[in-house]
Amino acid sequence: MVERHKMYINGEWVDSESGEIFERVNPANSDEIIGQFQKGNENDVKKAVDAAENAFEYWSETPPPKRGEILFKIGEMLKQQKEDLAKLMTWEMGKVLVEARGDVQEAIDMTYYMAAEGRRLFGHTTTSELKEKFAMTVRRPLGICGLITPWNFPIAIPAWKLMPALICGNTVVFKPSSDTPLCAIKLVEILEKAGIPKGVVNLVTGPGGSVGMSIVKNEKIRSVSFTGHRDTGATILKEAGIKKVSLELGGKNPIIIMDDADLELAVDGVIWGGFGTTGQRCTAASRVIIHENVKAKFEKMIVERIKKLRLGNGLDEKTDIGPLVNRAAQEKSRNYVEIGLKEGGKLLVGGHIPEMKGFFFEPTLFTDCFMDMRIAQEEIFGPVVAVISAKDLNEAIKLANSVEYGLSTSIYTNNVRNAFKAIEKLEAGLTYVNASTIGSEVHLPFGGVKHTGNTREGGILGIEEFSEVKTVYVDYSGKLQRAQIDIE
Ligand code: NDP
Repeated sequence: MVERHKMYINGEWVDSESGEIFERVNPANSDEIIGQFQKGNENDVKKAVDAAENAFEYWSETPPPKRGEILFKIGEMLKQQKEDLAKLMTWEMGKVLVEARGDVQEAIDMTYYMAAEGRRLFGHTTTSELKEKFAMTVRRPLGICGLITPWNFPIAIPAWKLMPALICGNTVVFKPSSDTPLCAIKLVEILEKAGIPKGVVNLVTGPGGSVGMSIVKNEKIRSVSFTGHRDTGATILKEAGIKKVSLELGGKNPIIIMDDADLELAVDGVIWGGFGTTGQRCTAASRVIIHENVKAKFEKMIVERIKKLRLGNGLDEKTDIGPLVNRAAQEKSRNYVEIGLKEGGKLLVGGHIPEMKGFFFEPTLFTDCFMDMRIAQEEIFGPVVAVISAKDLNEAIKLANSVEYGLSTSIYTNNVRNAFKAIEKLEAGLTYVNASTIGSEVHLPFGGVKHTGNTREGGILGIEEFSEVKTVYVDYSGKLQRAQIDIE
């Protein structure tokens, strides 16, 4: 029996008005159905927005430390259920169990971090140009926030948005990816049990084009926080009207390897960055820009390692690489391999769909690539890495910067000058030195430049994303004082 799940609106688990459902299959075994889910529609979004509107006064007036206590409880519950949630995540979207545990841990970390923020939410005080006048800023919630999330971090990314939104006093309409509705439902169940009041968080499952777009266009919603594909982000920006729009989009992240680098360490970094989560991270390392003096040696070392990687069901602890999320992703990787070959790239290893039941794809390495090739420019979001050669650091940095994205970057070098030059010159939201392109921590800002987006999430900037600042002047002089005019 396949379980049928509901959506969560105004504190109740309900069916969609559409009367329709959709199914999700196990990416490691496409014969197995994970569950049936409500195919929400525009009316469901309207109901969710009304519920969020009604709940706003109560929630925004709840003292932030009290909101923090509920978040702390959510953190405790996530911790208790970490293993079950991780297994469910691997079942639903395919990432290997060790990474699924990391995904849940990221949500736990973010929840505790934001819980504590309830006792800060700092504004600032400053001076006034007039006597007997006091000036400060205070933080206010935005109102109703629409959160639209992808499938690749199905608990962590919602937590990166939900927790700062809630601690700041906002109410929420949350639409998860149609590839990972079950993880979202389990997360919202925890929020409900931890005591988030009714209407504060509303979950509407269903297609991006209808449910997502209804959120984007709704005039009562004050802010949309979106993580996903660049093209979806561009459409959202066009359609959102006058509301705050925060976008976390794609990446084409390079690892630069200099001839003074520790090559063993660099190989570890490329394996983890390029093939972890089967290449389906916005921060995945999809380009290796390597000094020509060490290219041959590096390629020999990494090909041996790639050949040893085991594909399989992520629930099997021996598996290194799980499946891609769905058939379209599998086809996309295969198409890019064909494109790469046509463009003159040399396939060193991988490139095929193996004879397996799920949406698997072999870890793939191209070499002798040039920056004008599509496989060196476009986000593939699969286990396909392109190696490009550079004669020195300046050329490597130029190549690294010559893409439309700017999320994560990395350099392997033992030369401090090279490291600092890269920190200064790489156009990106993140630069790692002697570490791969992935590994963000919740108390530091996360996000990118150029077509990667327009925001920073996490850390104290997560509070900026979900609050606005009110400027307050208190004049205790007892007389009319005119700024800029009554100055001595
Ligand atoms: P999509 O843009 O296809 O989907 C993301 C979310 O948007 C889903 O919930 C989707 O719903 C919804 N959506 C789709 N179309 C619309 C629309 N017209 N209006 C409103 N919402 C819509 O991205 P993917 O799920 O494929 O995620 C992968 C992408 O996410 C990659 O490009 C990756 O780089 C990016 N990403 C960026 C990160 C960052 O922080 N910069 C982090 C993680 C991923 P539905 O599922 O129903 O289609």
